[in-house]
Amino acid sequence: DFVKRDRRHSSLPKEETLQEKNQWFPSAEDLQHALDNDLIDVHFQPKISCDSHLLIGFEVLARWQDETHGAVLPDYFIQLAERSHQIDTLTHQVYEQAMTWFARLSKVVNPNQSMTLVMEPENLTMAINISVVNLQNRNLPEELTESCVQHGIKPEQVILEVTETTAMDNPTEMLDILTRLRIKGFGLAIDDFGTGYSSLAQLARLPFSELKIDRSFVMTGDSSLESKAVIKSVVDLAKSLGLTSIAEGVETDSMRTYLHSIGCDILQGFAIAQPMTGEDSEVWIQNYYQSMEQQRIQALQSL
Ligand code: C2E
Ligand code: MG
Ligand code: MG
Ligand code: MG
Repeated sequence: DFVKRDRRHSSLPKEETLQEKNQWFPSAEDLQHALDNDLIDVHFQPKISCDSHLLIGFEVLARWQDETHGAVLPDYFIQLAERSHQIDTLTHQVYEQAMTWFARLSKVVNPNQSMTLVMEPENLTMAINISVVNLQNRNLPEELTESCVQHGIKPEQVILEVTETTAMDNPTEMLDILTRLRIKGFGLAIDDFGTGYSSLAQLARLPFSELKIDRSFVMTGDSSLESKAVIKSVVDLAKSLGLTSIAEGVETDSMRTYLHSIGCDILQGFAIAQPMTGEDSEVWIQNYYQSMEQQRIQALQSL
């Protein structure tokens, strides 16, 4: 029944649920206040190659931590921003912060070239979530390119993630803007794949470069044969369309092993790392490379 589910609506906590849990239920005015005062910031979650375990890059995730009310769920405030026409401002603030941090990476990743197993900084990628509402802005390709130029980042290093349910709402309309983004060099990922109703014929016609398996399947895959079957068919589909496959929500080593066995390309999830602040991500990168380097040396010594 996964075909019938629309996570955009079903996963969103109902207003009553939030209030029962005594959670804050911010308004469009509260969001405007947060945007005006730079209260929305970004976290980064690593993505690694399933095969080589090399760091591929990061997904950028928006965070809103209110001083009195605590964290607001991204699923909630993103939809609020979409409804209240604040999503262009929010997306702009997110990618500007993300590009600023990402441009720093070339200086912190392997600065004295001492480690061998490190991806060249200019080949690392950063995935930014883009709302379907953002795609109605005809100038998005130029605005994103301009931001890349300002920060010295190649568009090829930036992947734009669009949620499946919305990407497929109007494929003909999508085709033009997505093609223009691809021509500029940006990668395009279908996010939360498997939760929508996409026609495979339409999917194949849109210029996507990556398929991202929805975490609901990955998180339940250890105990559900149905989820495993969905995961495998998405990986196979990606392969036959020439797209990169990514699993998000990888929480266990057994899921990592399974994904490796079916040839999934990229892993993301708590089993690798939680989303972190920019500063914590830099520390994480250093530790991750050091442990990989140690493993490499140990492997060489045991030959
Ligand atoms: P998404 O793009 O599918 O992002 C992945 C979500 O899975 C994130 O939730 C991340 O924290 C969570 N996650 C990653 N690994 C694991 C894991 O191993 N286990 C579990 N249980 N969860 C994991 P988050 O940060 O709450 O974001 C939720 C959604 O909000 C995102 O889903 C995305 O659709 C939206 N979102 C977040 N930031 C932005 C943004 O800047 N712009 C837009 N348009 N949407 C955003
Ligand atoms: Mg995403
Ligand atoms: Mg999503
Ligand atoms: Mg997702």
